[in-house]
Amino acid sequence: MNFNIVTIFPDLINGFTCHGLLAKATEEKLVTVTTWNPRDFSKDKNRRIDDKPFGGGQGMLFQAEPIIRTVEAINNISKSYVIYVAPHGSPFNQEKALNLKDKENLTIICGRYEGLDKRIEDTCINEVISIGDYVLNGGELPALVIMESLARLQEGFVGNEESLYDSFSDGLLEHPQYTRPEKSIYGDVPDILLSGNHELIKRWKLKESLRITKDRRPDLLKIKKLSDLEIELLNEIKDE
Ligand code: SAM
Repeated sequence: MNFNIVTIFPDLINGFTCHGLLAKATEEKLVTVTTWNPRDFSKDKNRRIDDKPFGGGQGMLFQAEPIIRTVEAINNISKSYVIYVAPHGSPFNQEKALNLKDKENLTIICGRYEGLDKRIEDTCINEVISIGDYVLNGGELPALVIMESLARLQEGFVGNEESLYDSFSDGLLEHPQYTRPEKSIYGDVPDILLSGNHELIKRWKLKESLRITKDRRPDLLKIKKLSDLEIELLNEIKDE
């Protein structure tokens, strides 16, 4: 998967992608990450790309032309699906990540200041995505969030098989997990996880997934089609 990130702060993106599993994935060419600075596409002698909003208002906006020229340059190399990250976008979640993971070329536009001239959205953007109901200074963190969540869904990415069991993959949060030591002053590992009984362990994991989802994200349970076993386990939790 090829990511093009349109940003006036390319170092923020490059500094992140050169670490950990994302760096390994880029070395192995599972993903490529190219940053594009719209200042390189400004015709202003000072490489300016922002101006005041018409009709008054706070702050500055990215002008349409340098951004649209940047996207055109990207698409001239390879046509890409273009996302603008912004608070007014539709919410990003695992389902959206699964829908986007097979795009071969993805461009993410990172806003700054008060955002973009609307004509950019009307001209060259396929989708506007928000990473949550809060406002950040810029789109670089949202772009990194989206990029990392899609990269780890790529076949061959280290841990890709495990991601099938991550939170949200089946509409539930992941159950708690433990590692060595079995006993500690901070508490003991539940006996069932040490029992070797795979059927009981599977049931325990599902029950604890349901418990944590019910406590922290009851909204997820409302939209999930529950199996008979899940209903039975939820009733057990209610009676405890
Ligand atoms: N004036 C905008 C508003 O009220 O919606 C906020 C602009 S924000 C200060 C600057 C940039 O940060 C946005 O253009 C966007 O790219 C990015 N951004 C901020 N919060 C975001 C969020 N929750 N999701 C995605 N992008 C966000």
